[in-house]
Amino acid sequence: MKILVLNSGSSSIKFQLFDAKTNESLVSGIIEQIGEKISHARIKFESGELEKKIPIANHKIGLEIMNSLLIESKIIKDLCELDGIGHRVVHGGEEFCEPTIINDKVIKQIEKLIPLAPLHNPANLEGIKSSIEHCPNVPQVAVFDTAFHSSIPKYAYMYALPYETYEKDGVRRYGFHGTSHHFVAKEAAKKLGIKMENLNAITLHLGNGASMSAVKNGKSIDTSMGLTPLEGLIMGTRCGDIDPAIIFYLSRVENLNEDELDNMLNKKSGLKGICGNNDMREVGEMAQNGDEKAKLALEMFSYRIKKYIGSYSAVLGRVDCLIFTGGIGENDIEVRRNSCSNLENLGISLDLDKNNQRAKEIIDISKPNSKVKVLVIPTNEELEIALQVKSLIL
Ligand code: ADP
Repeated sequence: MKILVLNSGSSSIKFQLFDAKTNESLVSGIIEQIGEKISHARIKFESGELEKKIPIANHKIGLEIMNSLLIESKIIKDLCELDGIGHRVVHGGEEFCEPTIINDKVIKQIEKLIPLAPLHNPANLEGIKSSIEHCPNVPQVAVFDTAFHSSIPKYAYMYALPYETYEKDGVRRYGFHGTSHHFVAKEAAKKLGIKMENLNAITLHLGNGASMSAVKNGKSIDTSMGLTPLEGLIMGTRCGDIDPAIIFYLSRVENLNEDELDNMLNKKSGLKGICGNNDMREVGEMAQNGDEKAKLALEMFSYRIKKYIGSYSAVLGRVDCLIFTGGIGENDIEVRRNSCSNLENLGISLDLDKNNQRAKEIIDISKPNSKVKVLVIPTNEELEIALQVKSLIL
């Protein structure tokens, strides 16, 4: 039984093929620079790698090239023999709380949600439509980044704006990275020997985009990203929480228009805005070499995380574990140390020696007497999507 997972961006398609019996990854790859003069297709499998550099005009041709590479690798005879295809869809709005078999009605509903995710949902739809055209008889399943957060109670997802902004325009907290928060919470439950429905956890997905979630009895009850992925933690290039009045102030004093402000908050802020670099490894090196702005950026990054740990501890009451994941969460020793320092009053005691490693598998980096366990769990959003597809089509 084989399940393919597709993550379609505006100019790329990431893919991974799983043996759904063993949950083993058989092949992974990416088609990049779709629509440019030369596109780049690569796949990796156990016994080798294949690569093509040719023009790929659109997602449909991208999938044809992916299919030819998969056939060349001898892993499948054709995409149409697959048992299911899972598509990552960024925004499911209030409509989609579960993985969903895709049909015409579902496509129309995802199209309706485009205003909430204007960059992501159209690209996700491109991949979905091309994939259906290519193999109409294979079940296709949409797995939504927002779905895990659909359990957040209304008092936590509402903004204190005029009520009609919610009713008319759908303005509320939706949250993102749900597949990752869900996956690491389930892994933590297994590791700690607690049933998922009893697990209370604070999950920290720290990558280029970063978000945290409060998980109570196995369900998300709050998360740091909001209507869009701009709210919450400090990120590579996104500002996270700010006073919204800054936007009007800057528009007046700097004469910036809507697009310029959008670009500033999403692409020129965060770590990059503070110290000129959005790659955490490089920011760490800059700080070690004495760069004051890089040091400040690191302090701000962990300080913001610490504030969220505090507020989610208050919201949860009992916390079984903190879970670090994502490129930064899995690898950055300093960020983990600084975010957890002086939190003994919340029951969080990090073991600095155990913390002093990058995580290739699940590790517990807390002291034996720490009431709250601190775990580092490599995320695997693709596997989680494959598992959700499997649970739906079997
Ligand atoms: P994305 O959100 O694009 O999936 P990732 O989860 O891959 O991002 O995380 C990217 C971030 O992880 C970058 O800031 C990168 O510098 C950081 N990162 C990756 N490896 C390390 C490492 N060894 N030490 C510190 N940071 C790292």
